[in-house]
Amino acid sequence: MVRVYVGIGSNLDDPRRHVDDAVQALDQLPQTRRRAVSPLYRSRPLGPAGQDDYINAVAELDTLLEPEELLDALKLLEQRHGRRPDAPRWSARPLDLDILVYGHVQRRDPYLTIPHAALAHRNFVLWPLYDVAPHLEIPGLGPLAALRERSAADGLECLEPHP
Ligand code: AMP
Repeated sequence: MVRVYVGIGSNLDDPRRHVDDAVQALDQLPQTRRRAVSPLYRSRPLGPAGQDDYINAVAELDTLLEPEELLDALKLLEQRHGRRPDAPRWSARPLDLDILVYGHVQRRDPYLTIPHAALAHRNFVLWPLYDVAPHLEIPGLGPLAALRERSAADGLECLEPHP
């Protein structure tokens, strides 16, 4: 089994429901077990103005799926939640699922970059990731705690009591 962290986000059509449903669906993926889920966060949208706030969370999984298999499964899940594969980048979306960390893997190509290319710069990823894995070493980037320490709240709001 490989320990994996998946970022979950939604800012369309009852975002909390999409995030909650996605958390359940991650537990149903083949050869995969969900270990933990972070509290929900509310974040300000990146990209074009006029979008609603996002609801974000991070799930910790153990999986036997290869990175490409996991990405394909996540993309399928996004589409089941009404996300159009041809929707413009940065546009509002009912569900966004990202592979943040996949074991010790480091790879950089347009189809799949691991750890996720924006991980170090996004508080709505670093904060919930820290909640589930405070001692995590991010391959190529170092201790998560140090990245989290440098990441300002900047409007990010935790919606649940901390674990
Ligand atoms: P986004 O619009 O941010 O969801 O980007 C979607 C595209 O990013 C997908 O079609 C993936 O092929 C690509 N991608 C590259 N690295 C990752 C990753 N670590 N997790 C998820 N998608 C990724």
